[in-house]
Amino acid sequence: MIYLDNAATTIPFDGVVRKMEEFFTEKYFNPSALYAPAVNVHKEVEETRKYILSAVGGKGKAYFTSCATESNAWVYNCGVKNKKGNIVVSMGEHASGYENAIALSNKGIDVRFVRLCADGRVDLDDFTAKVDSDTGFVSVIHCSNETGAINDIKLLAKRTKEINPKALFHSDGVQAFGKIAVNCDKMLMDMYSMSAHKIGGPKGVGALWVRDGLHLNAFLPGGGQENGMRSGTENVAGIAGFGEALKQYLSIDSKNISQLREILKRCLLSVDGIEVNESEIQSPYILSLSIRGIKAEVLQRMLCERGILIGLGSACSSKLKKNRVLFAMGRSMPHIEGNIRISFGFQNLYDDMEYVAKTIKETVKELREHTGR
Ligand code: PLP
Repeated sequence: MIYLDNAATTIPFDGVVRKMEEFFTEKYFNPSALYAPAVNVHKEVEETRKYILSAVGGKGKAYFTSCATESNAWVYNCGVKNKKGNIVVSMGEHASGYENAIALSNKGIDVRFVRLCADGRVDLDDFTAKVDSDTGFVSVIHCSNETGAINDIKLLAKRTKEINPKALFHSDGVQAFGKIAVNCDKMLMDMYSMSAHKIGGPKGVGALWVRDGLHLNAFLPGGGQENGMRSGTENVAGIAGFGEALKQYLSIDSKNISQLREILKRCLLSVDGIEVNESEIQSPYILSLSIRGIKAEVLQRMLCERGILIGLGSACSSKLKKNRVLFAMGRSMPHIEGNIRISFGFQNLYDDMEYVAKTIKETVKELREHTGR
C-alpha cells in the first residue's frame, strides 16, 4: 500500500509508539498526584510543553488540547465571546474553524468572510477592506489543508494590528506546524492551533499557543489542569507522543518532500485536462490536482484497489461543504468534482512516484473510456 493522504493523518513514528507505551505501562500515574512517580510524569508533560513552545518561537504559552478542532473551538468560543465588534475569517478555513464562524454568524455576530485568490491564498485587498476599527477577532489558516497554499500570516497580522491594535489574530497552523518555520510572537499572532497526528504523532492531542499577556476564558473548567484553562486529566501518553513526533519531524529534510512532489507533478502534467491548484508560496507536502471529466471519489476508490491511497480535497459529505474552498478560489464544478489531494510524508519513496503516476494515468484513461468524457 502506498499511502499518500498524509494531510488527513500520518503514520506514527515507531519511536512515538514506543514512547507512548511507557505511559500505559510503568508511567501510568496521574500527573496531578503528589508522590514522586507522578511528579516525574508531570515533569515530562512540562518538558514537552516547553519543547513545543520552543518550536513556535519560545515566547507565550502552550496549552494541550484533545485536537486542533478543540483548539479552534476554544479560540472561537472563549477567545472571542466577549469581544465586541465584527469577526473576520477567511473562506479558506478548515471546517473546524469555518463552522464555528458560521455558528457565531447565526447568533447574530457580524462575521465577514474574506475572499480567496485563484491560487488559494487570502485576497489581501478584500482582507484590508473587511478588517476595520470594530474588528475584534481575525482568523486565517496558515497553510491550506486543501491545496497547500501558504498565507503570509505576518503580513495579515500586521495589517490587522495597524487597522485595530486591539483585534486578536489567530491562525490555524495544523498543516504548517513542524513543516514550515513558525515564530508566533514575531509573526504578531495572538493564538495558533496545532495538532500531533499530522506530524507522525498520535490522534487525539493538539495544542493552542497563546501570546503572553492575553487572557482567554477557560475552555473546560474543573480540576484546574493546564493552568486552570483546560481541565481534565492530561493525555500524558498523547502529549509525550506529540513531543517525540515533533522531534522526529523537525529532522525531516523538506527538500526531499519537495522533490517527491516535483517528480509526481512533472509525471502527471502530461495527463490531458489536468490542472494543479497551487500557489507561489506553497507547502511541498500537498499536491492538489483537478482532472477534467473525472469523478474524484471514483478515482480514489479505483486507486485504493490498486494499492494507492490518496485524499480528496476535503472529506466532508455534503456537496456544498466539499466545494467551499475550491469554489472560493473560483473553480468550476467539473474542476471541483475532479479534485484529488495527494499529500506526502516521511515514509514516501522516490521510486514509488513513477508507479503512482503510471497508475493514475492508466486509471484516468480507463475511466474516460468508460464514461466517454
Ligand atoms: N485544521 C486543519 C487545517 C486541518 O487540516 C485539520 C485536520 O484535518 C484540523 C484543523 C483538525 O485537526 P484535528 O484532527 O486535530 O482536530
